[in-house]
Amino acid sequence: MKELNALKALLATPKKIVITTHANPDADALGSSLGLYHFLKNRGHEVKVVTPTAYPQFLHWMEGNEEVVVYSKEKKDQAQQLVANAELICCLDFSGLKRIKDLGPMVGSAAGKKLLVDHHLNPEEFADYALWDKTAAATAELIYDLILLLGDQSEITVGMAEALYAGIMTDTGSFRHNSTSAKIHRTVAELMDIGVDVNKVSRLIYDTNSLNRLRFIGYALMEKLMVDQENRVAYFVINAEEHQRFHLKSGDTEGLVNYALSIQGIEIAAIIMERDEEVKMSFRSVGDHAVNDFAAEHFSGGGHKNAAGGISDLGLEATVEKFKSLIPELQQNHKEA
Ligand code: 5GP
Ligand code: MN
Repeated sequence: MKELNALKALLATPKKIVITTHANPDADALGSSLGLYHFLKNRGHEVKVVTPTAYPQFLHWMEGNEEVVVYSKEKKDQAQQLVANAELICCLDFSGLKRIKDLGPMVGSAAGKKLLVDHHLNPEEFADYALWDKTAAATAELIYDLILLLGDQSEITVGMAEALYAGIMTDTGSFRHNSTSAKIHRTVAELMDIGVDVNKVSRLIYDTNSLNRLRFIGYALMEKLMVDQENRVAYFVINAEEHQRFHLKSGDTEGLVNYALSIQGIEIAAIIMERDEEVKMSFRSVGDHAVNDFAAEHFSGGGHKNAAGGISDLGLEATVEKFKSLIPELQQNHKEA
């Protein structure tokens, strides 16, 4: 951990703290943020979680959800003030300021010290303190480690442990991805000792489908799944009209890309979605196809070797054409671990 002692010294007296995380927060982003939030708050700091955008309903059960400030038109001034006045800004589950959208320039120029806790590749050098480990399965795993570095396991409440467990469960794909280490299982065992009900968390995250979402998945699988067996690539393209037709909400397309990757013989999967003014893309791969490099090179993105994302401002059709023209290159984008 970079500058642990300096961070400890800073936290020795009550501070104004902002915790932020990447746009469209997922369970790891929000779970990490709320886990750290309660730890710091319980120690007497004045803490706020500020997210760049809203996040799915299936994360709203997390303790502290009502206190989160979502940077949006109504909350812009409040978020700006919080960032400007913070003595410490904790940046969780992202490694470049672009990932926090409009908050990026504010955080970049803010006077407060910055703490980065993350497991993405190639972090930008903006943090004064950092707990960064690309082998970590989830940022929530690193928040657990950070709490033990700064304090004591007895400071982790059941609510905090549930939020951290949710991040670990989802970022490991329910303990199936390559990142699933013996260490992460040990961490989970400790979270269970604290009182996490794993079945409850799993149901809260995965078993809260709306009928619209299930019907949409059926439709996408029937009508929208393109399979290029020769190049071992499969992908979905979802347009704005379909978003409206199925009343899709944030999080509703989560996991869809994994169906494409699950097809026998397929090694790379993608979903290309028209969303507001931009086109959002998610990439998944197996083995040594490095989709993060591909996303970074062609779609202003990044992420992990086997799970990455990016954006495009070309519009849906041109983005799909660009993606299709790059498939042979994508197929060849091999990398060692
Ligand atoms: P997802 O496809 O689930 O949105 O994201 C998969 C991984 O890629 C996550 O680790 C996420 O942080 C990263 N990722 C997704 N979208 C982007 C993006 O636009 N830029 C970068 N740098 N990373 C992204
Ligand atoms: Mn993560």
